[in-house]
Amino acid sequence: MAGPLARQDLAELERPELEEALAHLGSAPFHARQLYRWIHRRGVTDFGAMTDLSRDLRAALAARFTVSQPRVLHRDTSADGTTKSLLQLVDGAKIESVFIPDTPAMTFCISTQVGCAMRCGFCLTGKMGLVRNLTAGEIAGQVRLLAAERQMLDRRFNIVLMGMGEPLHNYDATMKALRMLADPMGLAVSPRRITLSTVGVLPALERLATEPLMPNLAVSLHATREDQRDLLVPLNRKYGLSELVEACRKFPLKRRSRITFEYVLLSGVNDTPEDARRLVKLLSGLKAKVNLLPLNEAAGIPFARPSDDRVSRFAEILADHHLTVSVRKSRGRDIRAACGQLIVEGARTSPAQAMAALMR
Ligand code: SAH
Repeated sequence: MAGPLARQDLAELERPELEEALAHLGSAPFHARQLYRWIHRRGVTDFGAMTDLSRDLRAALAARFTVSQPRVLHRDTSADGTTKSLLQLVDGAKIESVFIPDTPAMTFCISTQVGCAMRCGFCLTGKMGLVRNLTAGEIAGQVRLLAAERQMLDRRFNIVLMGMGEPLHNYDATMKALRMLADPMGLAVSPRRITLSTVGVLPALERLATEPLMPNLAVSLHATREDQRDLLVPLNRKYGLSELVEACRKFPLKRRSRITFEYVLLSGVNDTPEDARRLVKLLSGLKAKVNLLPLNEAAGIPFARPSDDRVSRFAEILADHHLTVSVRKSRGRDIRAACGQLIVEGARTSPAQAMAALMR
């Protein structure tokens, strides 16, 4: 709904804003806390069901406000238990979110944009281009919705901002969503359980360094030479590798925490022993760990996944030089829910289902 009569969407408000909105109704701050708890901790969006609020307040809320929530259009579950949900937002835009059951903790992988402007050469989401930014309510809403469905609102879980989009290219909404998710009256997700993954939008990374709420940082490096990274991660032409590594050196880290450097392995492109040695050198002196991502292949991606032997050899060189290294297990590859495979497209399990999903 648009225009002056549109009801305000409370899913977009962090708690202090909610307190202010309710104060305009003459309502006490503790009502705002109750309401925040209903929405964010219990996943309830219907004011009528908020039974510890007075009948009058519930009616007043329903007249002025709404609580929007993404809608599940389609769900695929992989043989390994990974579940990918296709979600529809209020304007009809579609995104994907992934639940990974045991990595070893339970993890929600959520999107921050519809599509992505970064156009990394090996990523399907990049092929879509950027459709629009998600709002804070839409980012936090993915977690609320998926956790509620699995009766996990009271459980501990991790959140990774590794779905569609570049979180630092949608800075304000992303940080607001993290504050909403971390709020003790809401899901109270500890920032230590949240990982923000970025290609390195430098001004935003510098801003992130000053935030009171600090998620874990993962940086998508993927290359060890400027010319190579220019080709794989086009943003490198604006914010180069050496500046990025320099910014990482300055990034304030909590005791015992490290920056994760993600490195997609592309056969014959960036997976040679020389690449591994250059990576060691590039990261020397940094509190770093490396997460190797053997390419998840997809039609339209002009690269190949290296053999397991080659991946092991690369990992060994890093480990021999005392870098902590892990190789990301690709979860949900059979349902195209793995890294870089999220794209909203027509081809689903059957053409009829695809049509149905698009027409809804
Ligand atoms: N925009 C953020 C988050 C995106 S996805 C970022 O770039 O960091 C999370 C990770 O998956 C990134 O490291 C991304 O480069 C990687 N990725 C993208 N496509 C991939 C693919 N086809 N195979 C393996 N990893 C991929």
